[in-house]
Amino acid sequence: MTSPYPHLFAPLDFGFLKLRNRIMMGSMHTGLEDRFWNYGKLAAYFAERAKGGTGLIVTGGISVNTRGWLLPGGGTMNTRGDVANHRKVTDAVHAHGGHILMQAIHAGRYGYHPFSESASPIQARINPFAPRMMTTARVRTVIGDFARAAALAQQAGYDGVEIMGSEGYLLNQFLCKRVNKRTDEFGGDIHGRMKFAVEVVKATRQAVGEKFLIMYRLSLLDLVEDGNTQEEILITAKALEAAGINILNTGIGWHEANIPTIVTSVPRAAFRQTTALVKKQLTIPVVASNRINMPDVAEDILASGDADMVSMARPLLADPNWANKAAAGHPEQINTCIACNQACLDHTFSMKRASCLVNPQACHETELVYTRTTAPKKIAVVGGGMAGLSAATVAAERGHAVTLFEGGSDVGGQFDMAANVPGKEEFKETIRYFRQLLKQTGVKVQLNTRVTQATLDAALQKGEFDAVVVATGVTPRTPSIPGIDHPKVLSYPDVLRAGKPVGERVAVIGAGGIGLDMCEFLLAEASPQPVDAWAREWGVDFASKVPGGLIESIHGKPKREVFLLQRKVGRMGTGPGKTTGWVHRLTLKHHGVQLLAGVEYVKIDDDGLHVRVLGAERLLEVDNVILCAGQESVQELAPLDAKGKVTDPRYHVIGGAELAAELDAKRAIRQGAEVAARL
Ligand code: NAP
Ligand code: SF4
Repeated sequence: MTSPYPHLFAPLDFGFLKLRNRIMMGSMHTGLEDRFWNYGKLAAYFAERAKGGTGLIVTGGISVNTRGWLLPGGGTMNTRGDVANHRKVTDAVHAHGGHILMQAIHAGRYGYHPFSESASPIQARINPFAPRMMTTARVRTVIGDFARAAALAQQAGYDGVEIMGSEGYLLNQFLCKRVNKRTDEFGGDIHGRMKFAVEVVKATRQAVGEKFLIMYRLSLLDLVEDGNTQEEILITAKALEAAGINILNTGIGWHEANIPTIVTSVPRAAFRQTTALVKKQLTIPVVASNRINMPDVAEDILASGDADMVSMARPLLADPNWANKAAAGHPEQINTCIACNQACLDHTFSMKRASCLVNPQACHETELVYTRTTAPKKIAVVGGGMAGLSAATVAAERGHAVTLFEGGSDVGGQFDMAANVPGKEEFKETIRYFRQLLKQTGVKVQLNTRVTQATLDAALQKGEFDAVVVATGVTPRTPSIPGIDHPKVLSYPDVLRAGKPVGERVAVIGAGGIGLDMCEFLLAEASPQPVDAWAREWGVDFASKVPGGLIESIHGKPKREVFLLQRKVGRMGTGPGKTTGWVHRLTLKHHGVQLLAGVEYVKIDDDGLHVRVLGAERLLEVDNVILCAGQESVQELAPLDAKGKVTDPRYHVIGGAELAAELDAKRAIRQGAEVAARL
């Protein structure tokens, strides 16, 4: 059978090393690499991805010295003692026919500790620690540290190293005028500023010989003021090639950039044209990255000649078998990364171990294990939202006989509704994945079926079921405001699910995650947003004709006048995660959403919404008031005592049904999987 993705599955031959396909798992910090006692878990995590067919894996950032730490006590490769730990990882990957590179990093002024150092003492706005300026002699020492780390990586069995030179880390800091204000040989014009990177490559090549892969990750679009121009980037790329790298990986945007580069609302493969511009100028292979998550997108990039390999970090966290499923011609079986960042990057930036919202086994491969049951049970799962789908499919995969009852006409729950929010189109992929998995695992699905506690109790009594998982989710909260029954009042499901018409002036009550989503829904012109419209809105020049690729952003007249309200006094829109909340807040600003905090809701009538804002009366003359005021658990099927504890051990209550206040797909999917893994 011919492969539907011939370019994706063509080997990549470096002469001394042949990769089995063009699929690379890009570097992603998981937290496991920071503690030596976690290297067994790290090995299991990478082994799963190698077993799943991934061609090349790059580890999370491993610092070349302690001043280059990302975090205090972060993973390093600077002594022989480190080699034995890393050996566990390389052996595990090679056992499954994969190849692996160690990412050698120096965080520079992004190091979250008081010992950081950089090209200059200029502090990054995202870090409370100011760096120390490196002397010329210190730069030379660090060049040696990169080379030593690579030589140790070679001893540990790695197939090569990736030298981290993008996302605003140390080498990127030297490359750009933004941080590099030096007057020595490592500063000045681009030839001086790139000298550090070029010397690192030369020293590394000398330390490891010719038969060891050196990949350099270069920032193709800095997306910060005083970043590089395309001309400077091309000069650097050619110099790196001449210095001895085998392959160029690409990065987009510094961590401190005010432009999103990987969140769900960034169109798929948005930056491929930038990669293509650089590829044309080089003879070595070039890797494309950012928002590539499905095989058709990856294949198209390779087939069109925009790149030679594709890097996907989060998609392979989401599905370790991504490559094998694509190779078998079954993309519909892929558990797609939805670019939410909720369990991966948000965890990393909160110093927690990374995982994945759609795959709670990620980075927990040795702890959350779905073993085949030796005592199959008959299990009823009530509710076809994320918690119920997760519980039903894991239980069925383990060999239990599972019946899923759903009151509505389809599965998906709150997630299905969220998929209608512009920029959250990827959520549909998760529902498609679960639908597929229900079929594959043989779950009996009963749609449009409302069960009662009496019928469940009777079924348990008769032995028709041995256990019940209650995943009935939540119902939107209706706040008690005079006039709440007025026809201009809509609930968020009225708008997002039922598609009820909304006027031109709107007040949104509640500024949590759903209130923010509602504003984006009310203001979006198109869903999904085309790449050129996205670039205009955020002010991105893909060709970097100007420094950093930053141009003036253009925002048309907002589609509606929107007020977003909350009762709390203080900053609004802080609910969503660290890596996504700022994108929502900037989007609202672009569309002129009026934010009102410290609001008291007085009444709703024909004139609009009457409020008191910090004590002052105000009338918002709106056509509609949309309620996004949180949720309450649906618990009628759960046998609970006065304290909310389950009284019958055959019942398991999970997801929003257990706790509406923390309604969240990440918790729902993980809880469903954990309960099912124990049944
Ligand atoms: P939420 O985050 O709890 O926000 C509810 C909002 O309603 C708050 O702004 C609250 O602010 C207001 N509110 C609560 N009770 C009220 C009342 N009686 N009268 C008027 N206002 C009231 O809930 P949500 O927005 O429904 O989101 C639910 C969950 O979905 C979140 O926890 C989140 O995990 C998830 N979610 C996440 C994202 C994301 O992008 N990561 C997006 C959507 C949803 P005041 O009390 O100050 O008025
Ligand atoms: Fe992708 Fe979200 Fe999983 Fe991160 S948590 S890998 S962004 S699906």
